[in-house]
Amino acid sequence: MLFSSSRPGDGRLTQELDPQDQGPQDACGVFGVFAPGEEVARLSFFGMYALQHRGQESAGIAVSNGKRIMVFKDMGLVSQVFDEGTLSSLKGHLAIGHTRYSTTGASVWNNAQPTFRSGPRGGIALGHNGNLTNTEELEALLAERGVADVPRKLTMDSTNDTSLVTALLSTYDADLDEAAREVLPHLKGAFCLVMMNEHTLVAARDPQGIRPLVLGRLEQGWVVASETAAIDIVGASFVREIEPGEMVVIDQAGLRTERFAEARPKHCLFEYVYLARPDTIIGGRRIHNVRVKVGKILAEESPVEADLVIPVPESGTPAAIGYADQSGIPFGQGLVKNNYVGRTFIQPSDTMRRMGIRLKLNPLRDVIKGKRLVVVDDSIVRGNTQRQLIAMLREAGAAEVHVRISSPPVEWPCFYGIDFSTRAELIAAGLEIDEICRSIGADSLGYISLDGLIRATHVTKDNLCRACFDGVYPVQVPPGARELGLTPTQEPTT
Ligand code: AMP
Repeated sequence: MLFSSSRPGDGRLTQELDPQDQGPQDACGVFGVFAPGEEVARLSFFGMYALQHRGQESAGIAVSNGKRIMVFKDMGLVSQVFDEGTLSSLKGHLAIGHTRYSTTGASVWNNAQPTFRSGPRGGIALGHNGNLTNTEELEALLAERGVADVPRKLTMDSTNDTSLVTALLSTYDADLDEAAREVLPHLKGAFCLVMMNEHTLVAARDPQGIRPLVLGRLEQGWVVASETAAIDIVGASFVREIEPGEMVVIDQAGLRTERFAEARPKHCLFEYVYLARPDTIIGGRRIHNVRVKVGKILAEESPVEADLVIPVPESGTPAAIGYADQSGIPFGQGLVKNNYVGRTFIQPSDTMRRMGIRLKLNPLRDVIKGKRLVVVDDSIVRGNTQRQLIAMLREAGAAEVHVRISSPPVEWPCFYGIDFSTRAELIAAGLEIDEICRSIGADSLGYISLDGLIRATHVTKDNLCRACFDGVYPVQVPPGARELGLTPTQEPTT
């Protein structure tokens, strides 16, 4: 669906703060490009295509031709939302793109991004990866600044945190970078933002740098993206990571950068485990290599006698390679994954639930039959995947199934952009490892230790957010966190 605006106060865009706008804000992909003379919508399309793993629920692009901003966004995968006709109609020199991810909550158009709002100086479009934890404060600030059309109380899991930022920015009769300079210091939580008006692209990363954000150079311009893989794919060269607490401003005059807050790095450890693409580089290290190393450490920490190491593709593959290498047990492909099953199609109907994991994974019976298997996956969250998978492997003739997990048990909710929402949902929050092992039906279960995982990243423990594993929250959590199972000892440290 397309909308556009060149006029302040465009009435068509009031849906930005629609009361139906609900659902969790999760790990998403953001992309921005400033490149006069290039097809910026097409570049955004390919950048978002590379970031599809970070969000499969909706996709959107905002483009400016210097006079007005056009926004096109809809539910579905990037390739479902955009076609040749749409892309060629989105003309301009400046664009931002967003892919949104959510496993629960409302899958509605209003949750798609970029968000858009008109301000005194024109339009503002914004895309957000992360989750803000002080929406109540921001709502109060917005009311102070005289915005009357945010009538309802915002819930902590509302996607409206993004709309709130857009609304706050639009209250300033100022250039976008000036408005951002005012607004950014008020935001708490995890945020990688790409924003634009008709002339300027601004990218900003929270002071903890919880989610990744990188800068790339095109021959005739600049790109910013959640991951380096997106920079590679659009043919840009990687320049550097955008620093925690840094704001980058790009316009006709070039690129300027400044700090809106002191850097206090707390990079998300789960990006290393699962979220980021294996070909992405974070902190100077290729994610694939970190995951292989994790698999090696896992083999040292949790050895087992077996005939074959198989990954749960694709997320378990690098760690399985490392496990096999370190243990000397042969590596094999025992499961075939259908990569084309988008979340959009997996509606929670009974029929779909029954099909369950078979929609995604099918065992290679000849490989598995009679073998003592080591099955390597990146994480157990609710435990459903492993339970179904193990039953399927036994049905396919596996003699033994030993599960090895390349992250520690996920015990605590994430308030910074991953959908680990309540403790009750997390199998490791309520059960000991031997109980989880029985619950999923494995012959044995081993997780990598937290120290082992951290060692593989080469980042110091203090510079990582490990909250989902150890319950130490580095940034203010939302007011309702306690109801989600957070105990007072897990209150934030800053
Ligand atoms: P579960 O059935 O809840 O235990 O799901 C665990 C599986 O989901 C693992 O195989 C992971 O690869 C994958 N996974 C881990 N974290 C996430 C996430 N935030 N969103 C979607 N899938 C995830």
